[in-house]
Formats: sequence, C-alpha cells, structure tokens
Amino acid sequence: MSARARILPVFVPHQGCPHACVFCDQRHITGEKSVVSSDTVRKAIQEAALPRNGAKRQLAFYGGSFTAIPLDRQNELLSAAKDAIDRGLIDSIRLSTRPDAIDSAVLDRLRFYGVDAVELGAQSMDEEVLRLSGRGHTAEDLERAARLVKEGGFELILQMMTGLPGDTPERSVETARKLIRLRPDGVRIYPTVILKDTALYELWKRGEYREHTVEDAVSLCAVLVPLFEEAGIPVIRLGLNPTEELSGGEAAGGAYHPALGELVKSRILLNRARQMLRGVRPGASVVLEVPEEKLSQMIGQRRENLRILREEFMLRNVRAVSVRDGCPDLRCFTE
Ligand code: SF4
Repeated sequence: MSARARILPVFVPHQGCPHACVFCDQRHITGEKSVVSSDTVRKAIQEAALPRNGAKRQLAFYGGSFTAIPLDRQNELLSAAKDAIDRGLIDSIRLSTRPDAIDSAVLDRLRFYGVDAVELGAQSMDEEVLRLSGRGHTAEDLERAARLVKEGGFELILQMMTGLPGDTPERSVETARKLIRLRPDGVRIYPTVILKDTALYELWKRGEYREHTVEDAVSLCAVLVPLFEEAGIPVIRLGLNPTEELSGGEAAGGAYHPALGELVKSRILLNRARQMLRGVRPGASVVLEVPEEKLSQMIGQRRENLRILREEFMLRNVRAVSVRDGCPDLRCFTE
C-alpha cells in the first residue's frame, strides 16, 4: 500500500459468506452489525470528505469475503464507489476476499469498477491448518489467486494468521516463506484471537484447542516480521484493530492486545540486542543507541527489555539512549 494512501474503510460483515472458519465472527471483528448498502457507501464518502492533497484516496471494502457476497450486492456497493470516483471524491477502491472467490472474470469486473488493490486471506499455507480451521480452500487456491491478481495489474496484499488449530511456529514460518515467494506488495499478520460464540471458542472450552497467547504471538511475529521486511515486503498491519467490543470481552482469549504491533517491535529490538551482545564479558556496562522514535520500544514495557538483557548476559548495567545522527536502527557499546 502506498504510504501516501488515505483509506476510508467500509466494513462488509460476513454477508453471504458460505464458509464457517472456526475463528470467525465478522460482526465482532469489525464492530459492524448492520447491513451495508449503497447508502452506507455514499454516506461514508460524504462524511469523510477526503481532501485531495496528493495522497491517493481509497475506499476499502473490508471485513468479509467481498467477491463471495451475492453479485447484485457487490455491484450495488461497487457502483456507489465508482460513482464517487467519477465525481472525483475518491481515487480508487480496495477490497479483501477469499482466494477461491477470485478468477479472471471477477478481476475484470473489479477493474471495471475502479478496484486497484485486492487483499487475499491466505491465513495459512499448510493444508492441515486450513482444514482444521474450516477455511474451505487450499494453499494452491491462494497461489493461483495471488498470481491472477498480480498478473491483472492489481496491488496484492496477503493476510496470514498465526496460532490456528494445528499450527506451529515452524508452520507459520513456512507459510511466511511461501507468501514471500508470491511477491505481494504487503502483508497483514493476524495472530488468532478467540472470539466468543465461535467454533474456536467451543473447541477451546472443551480443551481441544490450545490458546495462542499474546506472548506466543509476540515471540513468533518477532521472527515473521523481519522475514518479510528483509524480503522488501512491508507488514502493513499486525493484530486486529482494537474495538470497544473486543476490549470489552468479546475477545475471550488468544492473542488480543491493543498494542500488539508495539510489543512485537519491542521484541525485535530485544532480539537484535541479544545478537549484538553475544560475547560481551559478564559485568560489563552496556549502552544501546537507537533512533529517538524507537527508544521506548528498546526499553520495553516496564523496562523489561533492559532487565532481560542485564540478567541474560550478567551485565552490571544496561541503558538505552536515543540519538539523532541518522543511526538507522540499533548500536551497542560497552562503557
Ligand atoms: S471466509 Fe471470511 S467471512 Fe467467511 S467465515 Fe471465513 S473468515 Fe469469516
């Protein structure tokens, strides 16, 4: 996604989705319970009044499996959005959908309406994980759809989940590697959250699913994010957007944390410091230099990163300081 894009999200919750992914209750994920119509789209565009200031203004249909909802509803929503493009109120449309709801004819129709970015829910590239999660598509479906989207000239965003039934950290790393080979323009990573009244909630209650905790997600995503970034693929979202419903109890368990992305960035810096401190003599005093905007991530919540480094490397002292000299990431010195 272009850094200069302004996104206006319209959530299309679970409408017409014939599938039953064990983790999914789209109404709770999006906080949206009413039916979305062309009026919703027009009102959202009117109220947002996105300024034309050089940034691309995109209407985004998120939340469900857009190209799997009834065709007349798709066309109604897309027509309202295209009308806004024709009137110069927005520049383009993006949407999210399932891999098995994409083919050349679908993409031709999306292009006609002004869609230029397609997000595909891969979730996993492991067949057993897909089966146990009730996804109803295969890894091959994702590969085929991703190629069609790219060949069709659309921006391609892939979404993956961690901690699904049957998943392991190794399988998640393998999923990330397979997604990287498809050369998406960006990825979103959603560690599994156990929502009330879902099949996954029941499995968890019966002891048939082991919760993917916040700590599980943070330690795993601190491995996945650098894989994508080293491949030049930006991670444009990590974890569900916090909503009042989720924070108020709908997220019954699993990896829900309103600041999950920050926790992961903090862990990545901790891991980098660990690598740089290998071989440092016990009893040394260490200074970690980071750019100003990363200082709190380096220190960690309740100064946890500094405590961990001090204990693991038996250091006399560890302190983190910010620098403004263009230091790109992290530098370590002993005093
Ligand atoms: S395909 Fe998407 S909307 Fe349908 S059940 Fe699965 S996650 Fe939910």
